[in-house]
Amino acid sequence: MKIIFATNNQHKLEEIRAVANGKLEIFGLQEVGIYEDITENQDTIEGNAIEKARFIYNKYSLSCFADDTGLEVEALNMEPGVYSARYAGNHANEVDNVDKLLHMMQGIKNRNARFKTVIAFIYEDKVKRFVGLIKGEITIIRRGHNGFGYDPVFLPNGHNKTFAEMSPFEKNNISHRSIALQKFVKYLKEFIDL
Ligand code: IMP
Repeated sequence: MKIIFATNNQHKLEEIRAVANGKLEIFGLQEVGIYEDITENQDTIEGNAIEKARFIYNKYSLSCFADDTGLEVEALNMEPGVYSARYAGNHANEVDNVDKLLHMMQGIKNRNARFKTVIAFIYEDKVKRFVGLIKGEITIIRRGHNGFGYDPVFLPNGHNKTFAEMSPFEKNNISHRSIALQKFVKYLKEFIDL
């Protein structure tokens, strides 16, 4: 089965292909010749995932799924959350965002946080949602060089390596995105006879 993943993020494409394990043919937007920027204007992670999938579905009539992810930090009232990508400002990069997070967390004892991914899938005009959560802690300093985004400062509960110290295989086994994707793949197997 061929499905469009409404993203241009190569890391996400690789992660999701690894979890789908050959059961789905997943194409990124550029691979099907779509070069538009899709806006994320909603104020929830779920709303953004649906908005992105809906945009491609309405415009190109292609079954597609989109994900949106946020890092929710207890001591920061669950921020940056839906604003994770632009936590340090609209033109901020990942380094700036992590710098800001570490700065905001200076001296704070409660370091509990969770990653949340929502996958929205649109198929024959129906929207289905799949949520993946993983709990952990924000480290004091960056650790590791793998992965992307907030990976160097996220230590999942029950593990002694941050996501960025894990191999892609180790991260994919437990990550928020893979939990959401496994639910999605299970759904496809049961309902669309994959
Ligand atoms: P989005 O899902 O691309 O909107 O991601 C929102 C923000 O969360 C971006 O700053 C990403 O770098 C970050 N992010 C998304 N997924 C992950 C992940 O698996 N690990 C670390 N950071 C992530």
